Amino acid sequence: MPTGACSTVWGSASPVNATDLESWLRQRRAQGLYRHREVVEGPQGAAVVVEGRRLVNFCSNDYLGLANHPDVVLAWQRGAERYGVGSGASHLICGHLRPHHQLEEELAEFTGRERALLFSTGYQANLGVISALTEPGDRVYQDRLNHASLLDGARLAGARLRRYPHGDTAILARWLARHPAALIATDGVFSMDGDLAPLPRLAELAKAHGAWLYVDDAHGFGVLGPDGSGTVAHYRLDQEQVPVLMATLGKAVGVFGAFVAGSQVLIETLIQKARTYVYTTALPPAAAEAVRASLGLIRRQSWRREYLKHLIERFRQGARELNLPLLPSATPVQPLVVGDSQAAVALARKLREQGFWVAPIRPPTVPPGSARLRITLTADHREEQVERLLTALTRCLA
Ligand SMILES: *Cc1c(COP(=O)(O)O)cnc(C)c1O
Repeated sequence: MPTGACSTVWGSASPVNATDLESWLRQRRAQGLYRHREVVEGPQGAAVVVEGRRLVNFCSNDYLGLANHPDVVLAWQRGAERYGVGSGASHLICGHLRPHHQLEEELAEFTGRERALLFSTGYQANLGVISALTEPGDRVYQDRLNHASLLDGARLAGARLRRYPHGDTAILARWLARHPAALIATDGVFSMDGDLAPLPRLAELAKAHGAWLYVDDAHGFGVLGPDGSGTVAHYRLDQEQVPVLMATLGKAVGVFGAFVAGSQVLIETLIQKARTYVYTTALPPAAAEAVRASLGLIRRQSWRREYLKHLIERFRQGARELNLPLLPSATPVQPLVVGDSQAAVALARKLREQGFWVAPIRPPTVPPGSARLRITLTADHREEQVERLLTALTRCLA
């Protein structure tokens, strides 16, 4: 890892021994930046049980409510019966099983790309693809609000990474005119803001300057586009306009894993060169079977997307009436900006006392001074739960 990577990722100097670690942890607690896990009893869903209490869950990325869908669970069970639980090796040795291959073909067809390649996680895909498509020292331009894994991907590749102001294609155009880049990377839907990248303009710029355009659609895939195939479908951009499309399978798809879709040549190159593809164990085949079932539901049950859209509109209309400081987002990610980290944590705690689970998101996940509640809506929510959240928010902010 390049020196300084820790300080950028953690927002503070990297600790070097146990005493330093303790004081670093203390400092982090004092800044309201301390993170801890909650143990959830039972499956994901609109309601979950934490510490013996039932909470309405507004922080999951299971946007379509598929993580515990009986058909998807059954596909996983049958997959395990037929193919066992482990894939046994990496894809290139002997771990590429029939369900993986079928899933890749279905993903290529669904996204309208020549080929698709499964990765075990989205984080790995972003690390592997950027390294495979660039040489050390190449310029890589990224949106300032891109997901951490895209930034880390550029760092690992040894690229000259520059981050343009969020969505600012005018500045990007100026940079490209001066110094062409090997690759431009952007989230499709920004994970902490919920807004969409200006993909049509990015596609024009990438094409004009001979750069790869890499779109990470972790939060758009399954949710956006007429068929659910994501932000690129929403904008009707084909493989030539967005040559590298990545999406994850653990969010709206409700399972686990990720894929990259694009041309035959791109995928063959990644199979040879992407180290996070070559040197890791393939996903469990049963997971691939579960994803296949989930994709079937995404394609057949457009009501999930339509109902989710209705809930989003209902929430935003209510928030407008109550003057809540929402960011402009038309996706299931609805951020309410608080500013101060401790205030965001305190607000989340108050909501929790009223039975609502909402995640406070703090720096360095978001820029300093923009701590927020990241409210996520899913097709599992009932309208009445969204209305009760609005009431609780008004009470807690009063
Ligand atoms: C979640 C996420 C990832 C990482 O995907 P995993 O499969 O969870 O590793 C990458 N990019 C974005 C934008 C994400 O939100």
